[in-house]
Amino acid sequence: MIRVGLGYDSHRFQPPGPLTLGGIRIPFDNHLHGHSDGDAVCHAVTDALLGAAAAGDIGEMFSDKDPRNAGRDSLEMLREAVRRVAEKGFGVEQADVTIIAESPRLAEHRDAMRQRLAEALGIDVGLVSVKAKSNEGLGWIGRGEGIACVAIATLSST
Ligand code: MG
Repeated sequence: MIRVGLGYDSHRFQPPGPLTLGGIRIPFDNHLHGHSDGDAVCHAVTDALLGAAAAGDIGEMFSDKDPRNAGRDSLEMLREAVRRVAEKGFGVEQADVTIIAESPRLAEHRDAMRQRLAEALGIDVGLVSVKAKSNEGLGWIGRGEGIACVAIATLSST
């Protein structure tokens, strides 16, 4: 059986940099504010996996009330979600991510993010896609206040 899940996340920019996104550090004058390391890409992919398996969501799995999650490495959270869906009998087939941000330019970091995500998902890098686009100057993203990210993931029963 094939299952598809959708994830969405957004975080506000806050100085100083660097920016942690897709499991890598990107030179920038802001980071993403959050209880964890604020990595919106990892959070969206985590929710896509959990959604595909009907296995809850990231907020329930990693409460922002829990001090153990403060500053937490979001790649580690993603790996835990991979374990949770595996326990439910699902393997990860692929993931596709779209990052919506006015800045910084992300195209040059895309392959490094794909590599890090693929490692955490336990799949080949050819099965992980990361795309980035601007918001055409519109709204809070257009004003450079933060980043949004959507992700889709496919699971199959093992
Ligand atoms: Mg988040």
